Amino acid sequence: MTGQFVVQNPATLEPIAEVPDLGVDEAIAAVEAAHAAFPSWSATPPRQRSVILHTAFELMIRDKDRLAALICQENGKSLTDAHAEVAYAAEFFRWFSEEAVRSGGDYTESPAGGTRTIVRHKPVGVAALVTPWNFPAAMATRKIGPALAAGCTAVLKPAEETPLTALAIAELLREAGLPDGVLQIVTTTDAPAVVAAWLEDRRVRKISFTGSTGVGRQLLRQAADRVVNASMELGGNAPFVVADDADLDAAVTGAMIAKFRNGGQACTAANRFYVHTRVAEEFTTLLGAAIEKLVVGDAADGAAIGPLISARQLAGARARLDEAIAAGAHVAAQAQLPDLPGHFLAPTLLTGVAPDATVVTEELFAPIAPIVTWDDDEDLVRMVNDSEYGLAAYVFSGDLKRAISLSERIDAGMIGVNRGLVSDPAAPFGGVKQSGLGREGAREGLLAFLEPQYLSVDWS
Ligand code: NAD
Repeated sequence: MTGQFVVQNPATLEPIAEVPDLGVDEAIAAVEAAHAAFPSWSATPPRQRSVILHTAFELMIRDKDRLAALICQENGKSLTDAHAEVAYAAEFFRWFSEEAVRSGGDYTESPAGGTRTIVRHKPVGVAALVTPWNFPAAMATRKIGPALAAGCTAVLKPAEETPLTALAIAELLREAGLPDGVLQIVTTTDAPAVVAAWLEDRRVRKISFTGSTGVGRQLLRQAADRVVNASMELGGNAPFVVADDADLDAAVTGAMIAKFRNGGQACTAANRFYVHTRVAEEFTTLLGAAIEKLVVGDAADGAAIGPLISARQLAGARARLDEAIAAGAHVAAQAQLPDLPGHFLAPTLLTGVAPDATVVTEELFAPIAPIVTWDDDEDLVRMVNDSEYGLAAYVFSGDLKRAISLSERIDAGMIGVNRGLVSDPAAPFGGVKQSGLGREGAREGLLAFLEPQYLSVDWS
């Protein structure tokens, strides 16, 4: 008999539910079931797989209010952010229902003429999916959608903080007609043991992980032992660049989304602001005024910004903030804190920040916006690229050619040009350097769960 663990609301610290605390034996049993379901699921006509995914999209939209409320409860984000996440998450099922019927292939004549080459795509096999707490719905559907579309079966381990949304999505997939064994959710408080057991099991042929760079590195090492196909969506440290010719109102609107969506707890969150000295004062005043208006609190009371996910995240963010202030940074604006027991940090705008302060160089995952000023394009590009991360970036300039020229010089997988949001199921999401390997969404997201196979046919 397995135990249970409690899922807590991070705003009120009240328990919401208990879920099974599964161990290695149950994790391996899930792989067994996924392996048993693979022959039939991979042979299921693509159109049939597509219909199930499309039905799951419709069911998520039907249940959007319930799913958004669940995300608010276990993650703490605002109701607006939770609704946006449900819509975004559901779109992955719709997108991959459309991609499922386009597995592609090729038929060519060899250059020497003696053979014909037929290229097709085969599902990679049983996939292990591991997701973080910050987007409990979207990070799950961004992996489940392409895995099922490709014909893979899967086992998914959601973050221990937010298992309820993944369980709810799996239930909707069952309602949509997904056969038994094709997808199993393994809830656990022992992620290292469960995921290590999966990576040691020869039936698991794919690991798709979203989370921190540190854990990603460790999983890549473990995956190396059995040469498991690995996709990694890891940490970020997105620069937000404001040029002297930018529309400052648009830049502030973009900054509020890029920085404060999900309370700053997004891998694509703007982490460091580089503002041209000529517009720094005006941009600071405008952004500061917007920050001071933010209502922080419990999503259930209509707050725009919720708590951080845990006491540990809060302690880390506070330490970075204190360190920056001790080193001479100035608090230019701050929102009010609510009178609640949860893990709240007041959204804060910092000026006079040194380019090498840890508040700039480390991923914050918190509603802190440090501003560094710049004058010269070369200095800007050097500072922006002086990071081991390369996930997202944002560039604001009134001259589109200048914005694109600057963007092309930035080492990042995704760049928002005059906008503060890059995520789109139809675009290849992912990073360079230590922000990850591979892409999710778009055509690339499906290919991550497929292996090309070619037949070389004698034509003599
Ligand atoms: P995390 O790495 O601590 O946890 C992510 C997942 O891995 C969770 O399910 C967790 O239980 C599991 N895990 C933790 N330790 C493990 C281990 N030793 N072995 C196997 N599994 C383990 O990350 P987090 O704190 O939950 O999420 C925040 C991080 O995720 C940030 O760095 C953020 O940038 C990143 N993230 C990246 C993307 C992206 O698409 N690039 C998206 C969202 C979040």
